[in-house]
Amino acid sequence: MVEAYAPPHGSITPVIIVGAGPVGLLLALRLAQSNIRSIVLEQDTTLGAAPRAIGYYGPVHNVFKEAGIYDQVAREGMPSGGYVWRTLPTEDQTGTKALGSVLCRNIMSRPDSDGQYKICTYSIQLAQCRLAEIMLEELTKTGLSDVLWGHRVTDLSQDESGVTVTAVSGEREPKSFQGLYLAGCDGGKSNIRKLLGIRLAGHSWPERFIATDVLRTAPVVEDPPVHFTVDPRYWGVVTPLEHVEPGVKGLWRYSMAVPAYEEAEDGSRIFLTDEEVVEPKYVNSLLLRQIDGPRPSDHVVVRKSLYKMHQLLASTMHRGRCFLAGDAAHINNPIGGLGLCTGLLDADALHQALEIVRRTIDPQTLFSRYSSERRRVFQNIIHPYSSANKTRLHGADPEDTAREDWYFQALRKGDPKELASINAPLYNNWRSDMWSLIGTSLKGI
Ligand SMILES: Cc1cc2nc3c(=O)[nH]c(=O)nc-3n(C[C@H](O)[C@H](O)[C@H](O)COP(=O)(O)OP(=O)(O)OC[C@H]3O[C@@H](n4cnc5c(N)ncnc54)[C@H](O)[C@@H]3O)c2cc1C
Repeated sequence: MVEAYAPPHGSITPVIIVGAGPVGLLLALRLAQSNIRSIVLEQDTTLGAAPRAIGYYGPVHNVFKEAGIYDQVAREGMPSGGYVWRTLPTEDQTGTKALGSVLCRNIMSRPDSDGQYKICTYSIQLAQCRLAEIMLEELTKTGLSDVLWGHRVTDLSQDESGVTVTAVSGEREPKSFQGLYLAGCDGGKSNIRKLLGIRLAGHSWPERFIATDVLRTAPVVEDPPVHFTVDPRYWGVVTPLEHVEPGVKGLWRYSMAVPAYEEAEDGSRIFLTDEEVVEPKYVNSLLLRQIDGPRPSDHVVVRKSLYKMHQLLASTMHRGRCFLAGDAAHINNPIGGLGLCTGLLDADALHQALEIVRRTIDPQTLFSRYSSERRRVFQNIIHPYSSANKTRLHGADPEDTAREDWYFQALRKGDPKELASINAPLYNNWRSDMWSLIGTSLKGI
């Protein structure tokens, strides 16, 4: 038997959100700030803690500002005014490793005289799990969203007037929830996407990728503190996850490619299973290639997670009264930090659409616009940028990449016009202004 859920506020819930990841939470927060109630159904019993996103930049800062969380996110995160590409660290006779040599730098901005960066001009480095906590704290204050933990959505139906979803919670009888609209923010394996019969198109990368959160004492903290390691086999990304200082223990993220095979002493190839890759001994061997400083290294792995990488886009982000946002709709490899940022900008666009539809126009036209606009952003900007960011790290010998890569050449030339044109899509076209897209004449309604 399916028991009907009675919302505590007594009337039908405007928006049901599936998934309390950062995309679902931001959507709930922005809706609450527009006085639109929601229910968030989350299958897990707590917020996710896996090592995932770390860097937020460009127009996402404005969305944080509008959501009232920018100051806290900026205060807790480590600012990075750009990125550096390096070779693997080099070792001296004592075994101490120095950071690898610099192949190229992208300095996007410098702090003002007060030491602060201007909003939107830099990247904030903060663990995704902390960002989600900040969003949840802010959402709870609104009192306009019921977040139900341990509720896994298993079924849905919709008609012209609304949506009904079924969720199971432990051993209890399944419950049904009714809403006017449904947002599937349930991540890459989205059940909502499957229930709506929406396809994913694209490809998967062959390599595995391991993300580790590591406590360590860095002998130096370079400016900017984020670097990419360029290497055909052991490429990766190194970034602080909080304010770090040289000589003081701090939290860092080491995200590293897992080569297809390792070589044994006799030259034979060893192919490791996923279980073997996550064993502490192997993870340590990867880390010791990336971590600079004296040996033995004092690092401690706090969290680790092994991933596959994909470039996938849903065939639509809208069906009837249901929408997809975030990883449920699109997945890209994490180099360059574009996945969650794009998902947060989906939540922003969907919030605008759900605000507009309260007052005006044919919902299907509006929601189709949401889908086509956010799919355009992924197809034309995020997919090509993230694919190039990744292949730049391992496509060739580091010195050849440094010399030949077109993006590196542009960075070295430093022509402000050319650089601005390279970055323009991320600044001008990443965020969607749904009001403008459907016609500004509606703004006064
Ligand atoms: C190593 C790594 C580094 C990354 N770095 C960056 C970065 O620096 N910057 C960036 O922008 N992006 C980055 N990303 C991408 C980013 O992590 C994802 O884009 C982000 O997690 C997507 O958020 P989401 O809320 O859409 O989905 P998720 O975070 O996956 O959340 C989905 C939620 O839905 C819940 N759920 C699933 N199914 C159901 C169901 N049936 N019922 C109820 N609940 C359900 C899940 O439990 C989960 O809590 C990185 C990813 C990885 C793996």
